[in-house]
Amino acid sequence: MTIRAICDLAPAYIRSIAPYQPGKPISELAREFGLVESGIIKLASNENPLGVSPKAQAAIRATLDGLALYPDGNGFELKQALSRYLSVGMDQLVLGNGSNDVLELAARAFLAPENSAVYSQHAFAVYPLVVQAMGCKGIEVPAKNFGHDLDAMLRAVQPVTRMVFVANPNNPTGTLAPAAEMERFIAALPAHVLVVLDEAYNDYLRPEHRADSLSWLKKYPNLLITRTFSKVYGLAGLRVGYAVGSAAVADMLNRVRQPFNVNSISLAAAAAALDDHEFVRKSYALNLAGMDQLTAGLKKLGLEYIPSYGNFVTFKAGDAKAVNTALLKSGVIVRPIAGYGLPDWLRVTVGLEAENTRFLSSLQQAIAA
Ligand SMILES: *Cc1c(COP(=O)(O)O)cnc(C)c1O
Repeated sequence: MTIRAICDLAPAYIRSIAPYQPGKPISELAREFGLVESGIIKLASNENPLGVSPKAQAAIRATLDGLALYPDGNGFELKQALSRYLSVGMDQLVLGNGSNDVLELAARAFLAPENSAVYSQHAFAVYPLVVQAMGCKGIEVPAKNFGHDLDAMLRAVQPVTRMVFVANPNNPTGTLAPAAEMERFIAALPAHVLVVLDEAYNDYLRPEHRADSLSWLKKYPNLLITRTFSKVYGLAGLRVGYAVGSAAVADMLNRVRQPFNVNSISLAAAAAALDDHEFVRKSYALNLAGMDQLTAGLKKLGLEYIPSYGNFVTFKAGDAKAVNTALLKSGVIVRPIAGYGLPDWLRVTVGLEAENTRFLSSLQQAIAA
């Protein structure tokens, strides 16, 4: 009998997973190119350039003395705050170690190897990851104008399909499906399919573009909405996100959750950040101004970009690999998105005004080189 190495014995569906490629950390670029960390700007992971909300900072400090104890595994205070903020029942909420965690919990709760899940081309990379990790078939539906082709996604649903993932706005393309189209899509999906509506960028939408998606929960028990504290709330490093759905669906996700999946600091910080309306307002306003600055700059450089509804914009860089390397050498980190089927494009996060200016001037030099 031949003895096979342990890794060859991992299931084929695990061995074929392409690892997630995160934005390059500042410390890593500093090591690679011998740069000083303070001179590097990171516009690669859609983080909040204003940092952590003052209210969250105070809450974080206040938790330090209690860290010898396990966190509240039910996240009572954060759930209570969210329940008031969203006008949903506490039993409709699932907290996660980032919304990535709740995406994975949903896959674990509803997918078995004989099932399939549907998502769009150029959609968030975590969807195929969590589907594949369940040994389940992922159906990638070609995008339309870089956005979700909702009609085609509907047609792709099979009797064995149990999940559909839609990010609205989508990352990395920044496209938005209008609320009416999104609701029509959800209404048309069969009851045996859980639709995960990922609203990570919801707070960056202008009021007139926001869907009243929470009201849909009353009509569609197979709808699960996910949101995060990583973006407008400025807590990406702490990892907190949540899902809202019907109480029955939330119960399923909670069954497969680690008992203490959100730590004490994160629970307290998220509750405080939710209450920091001034910080959210500032972050929103900064993003709109920065988006105008970036898109005007890209236009001036003659570069095509995809109009974005998030806190980032994806632009066509020609030789994106070379442009990215040149940007890195100048201390500017953006995100290559070849892994999303967009090898000629780069995604840049809206930063502070001075960061956007620096990015645009580095980009100008990079494309001239
Ligand atoms: C950033 C992002 C998230 C948030 O992930 P967290 O795990 O909450 O940090 C979720 N979905 C999409 C589409 C995103 O771009």
